[in-house]
Amino acid sequence: MVKESSWDFDTSFSLLKGHFGDRIITGRPLSDLNTFGTGGTASLFMEVKSGEELARLVKVVAKLNIPIFMLGGGSNVLIADSGFDGLIIKNSICGLEHDGNNISCGAGEELQALVDYATQCGLSGVEFATGIWGTVGGAVFGNAGAYGGEIGNVLISAEVVDRQGNRREEKVGYFEFSYRWSKLKVTGDFVTRVNFALKAGKKEEIQGRVDEIMTMRREKFPIGLNSAGCFFKNIPDKTQKFGKLSAGKLLEDVGVKTLRCGDARVFENHANILINEGSAKSVDIRKLANLMKEKVRQKFGIDLQEEVILLGNFEEDSL
Ligand SMILES: Cc1cc2nc3c(=O)[nH]c(=O)nc-3n(C[C@H](O)[C@H](O)[C@H](O)COP(=O)(O)OP(=O)(O)OC[C@H]3O[C@@H](n4cnc5c(N)ncnc54)[C@H](O)[C@@H]3O)c2cc1C
Repeated sequence: MVKESSWDFDTSFSLLKGHFGDRIITGRPLSDLNTFGTGGTASLFMEVKSGEELARLVKVVAKLNIPIFMLGGGSNVLIADSGFDGLIIKNSICGLEHDGNNISCGAGEELQALVDYATQCGLSGVEFATGIWGTVGGAVFGNAGAYGGEIGNVLISAEVVDRQGNRREEKVGYFEFSYRWSKLKVTGDFVTRVNFALKAGKKEEIQGRVDEIMTMRREKFPIGLNSAGCFFKNIPDKTQKFGKLSAGKLLEDVGVKTLRCGDARVFENHANILINEGSAKSVDIRKLANLMKEKVRQKFGIDLQEEVILLGNFEEDSL
């Protein structure tokens, strides 16, 4: 869970305002910036549009001890109803270019925009990512994947900004990708631009694979509903077909699909997906998730781990 520490709002705000003027916003609501559509406000907020701008911002913030959290598409976070006591940086660094079989992409681009661009260019390798929500930067952070593909398999290098505001290029090995994991979860570096090595292919065949995956996803994932995809991680298990024990299967087996807390409920087609039906609060979603976890613990003795990132102080939301 990402928690905040104490810091001085007035000093921080006036210093940041001095550097970035009206682009620093106070009390920014966050519910329109995440796919659950819940959560409180950010004490401070700024949208960044280039790596250079991000580096300048982080340099200033590093001296102030302000907790920072980078938001991409907000499709893998649950934000506390009490909000985030710190600075939210919204990554809107865009731009897509290709050179031969390589694509360079701003980390704030939607992952789907990368898939569409690669398809148009006749480049194959990111079809697996069609229909995965969020930004390219968010996908690198959590090594997003589906249908046998993962972002870490096609990334060759990326530009990062560290917590002191230094910009540098890192090769794929730096990220130590594994299942839904990258080293960014430890270093806290921010990704600004990502380079991918793809393979030349036939446009129609690439589009065909994209369409096939989209059709499969439509049956499995909620369309037009507020969710964050799978809430819990699958469990590594070498005895299983794909080396993972499905959290969805365990949840299905303990009969969670009929559970709800207020307007938070479990998706009828997938026991590992929680939905905000309209007016759920983050606390409802968290309570429901805890209930599901408890049922799996009681029956199988397994402690499910959240894939979704919990941001803010849920104790203040009086669980
Ligand atoms: C309907 C639905 C289906 C989904 N299906 C899948 C699926 O099949 N496979 C899958 O892997 N995921 C899936 N997800 C989850 C989600 O889409 C991915 O985890 C996605 O990659 C998150 O990206 P984001 O930009 O929304 O990240 P956010 O939710 O904004 O942030 C998630 C984490 O990434 C960090 N982050 C974001 N941008 C950056 C950056 N530029 N640099 C460093 N850190 C950053 C944030 O700080 C945060 O810790 C699904 C979600 C939904 C809603």
